Formats: sequence, structure tokens, C-alpha cells
Amino acid sequence: MDTIDVIQMRFVAARDLHKTIVDEVPQLKRGILWCTKCGHTTSIDAADALRNGWPRHCGYTMTIDSPEERAARRSPATNGKE
Ligand SMILES: [Zn+2]
Repeated sequence: MDTIDVIQMRFVAARDLHKTIVDEVPQLKRGILWCTKCGHTTSIDAADALRNGWPRHCGYTMTIDSPEERAARRSPATNGKE
């Protein structure tokens, strides 16, 4: 088998891996990102972003967790309300 065929096979395997990851993580599958700095939202193809680079906003990597989900993580005692 030619080297190029091996490279091509590995590339296809990596592409499937990204899709597998996205399918198993609800926040990735949702495809919505938030800027933790200014609150800007954008929708993405997560598998594509994993392959080509994750979006940034205000100089920071955008998060897959919604503001509600982040609040819930910060203060579980108050049931997510601040
Ligand atoms: Zn921003």
C-alpha cells in the first residue's frame, strides 16, 4: 500500500473520531458557543471546529456551556440562580 493511501486512511479515521466525539457530547452536538467575556453567541459545526480550530471571541476561547449551565456549576447550592 502506498504511503499516501495510509495517510488518507488515517485522515478519514480522524474525521470520524471528531464526529464521534461530537455525537457523545450534548453541548457539542447543540453547536452553540458563548463568549464568557461579552456574552456573544455563535453557532458552529463542532466537528468542523475541532478539525480546523475552535472559535475565539474577545481574545478568549468560546465555551460550549450556556450561561445557565455555568451558573449552575458555580453555585450548586442556589440551584443555579445567583
Ligand atoms: Zn466576546
